[in-house]
Amino acid sequence: MAIPNDILSVLHMVATLLGSILLILLAVSLIIVIIATILLIYSLKTGDVLFPNQLILGIIFFEGPIKAIMRLFGVDDSIIDRLSIDMQNKAMWSPFSKIPCDKRAIFIPQCLRSVDCPARLSPEGIVCKDCGQCQITTAKKEAERLGYMFFVVPGSSFIVRMIRKYRPEGIIGVGCLCEVKEGLDLMHKHKIPSVGVVLDKSGCVSTVLDWDKLFEVMHAGESTSKP
Ligand code: SF4
Repeated sequence: MAIPNDILSVLHMVATLLGSILLILLAVSLIIVIIATILLIYSLKTGDVLFPNQLILGIIFFEGPIKAIMRLFGVDDSIIDRLSIDMQNKAMWSPFSKIPCDKRAIFIPQCLRSVDCPARLSPEGIVCKDCGQCQITTAKKEAERLGYMFFVVPGSSFIVRMIRKYRPEGIIGVGCLCEVKEGLDLMHKHKIPSVGVVLDKSGCVSTVLDWDKLFEVMHAGESTSKP
């Protein structure tokens, strides 16, 4: 059965319109990627970050193409991740600092525990027994003194579960570069002010953290220092 000419012309118009929209979206995406890449190169060369909020969004939504272009300039993906974390931390510092400590949560990875840790898993994460074999006990006591919700994380799905359960208004996330980057991107999308602290040495066990850095972030709002 032949399709009437008027239907054919409508279909043709729709296809042309969709094609035009697609081309415009591609052109806009390309322009954003190019601008974000130029801003990143400027930041790496000068140490100054221009338009940090826009740059953060650019990296979140166009991470793949931006990293591919930066690789052409010899810039490793981890450098982009670290810069992105630094920018997000700086951008979030002020809103995070204004949130009362009892509405903030801290998520610590279990790999920071001693290999002889006697703590056991519970529905609320790994419950530190304050045995003193690692620094988690000190961080936990200080966090709880300040009013924080404090969790030692057994796995990434646990964080989402606790956020849904307790609805913290601000978050401190500790982890390796990838975990912190992914966590901050996710919190940025959900508009939860969050600050990330990256492990100095990552791995499955015996990881290393600059605990002073964590304490500095925990006390955000009490001083004017920045991460
Ligand atoms: S201080 Fe807590 S987390 Fe660290 S090893 Fe002891 S029980 Fe485990």
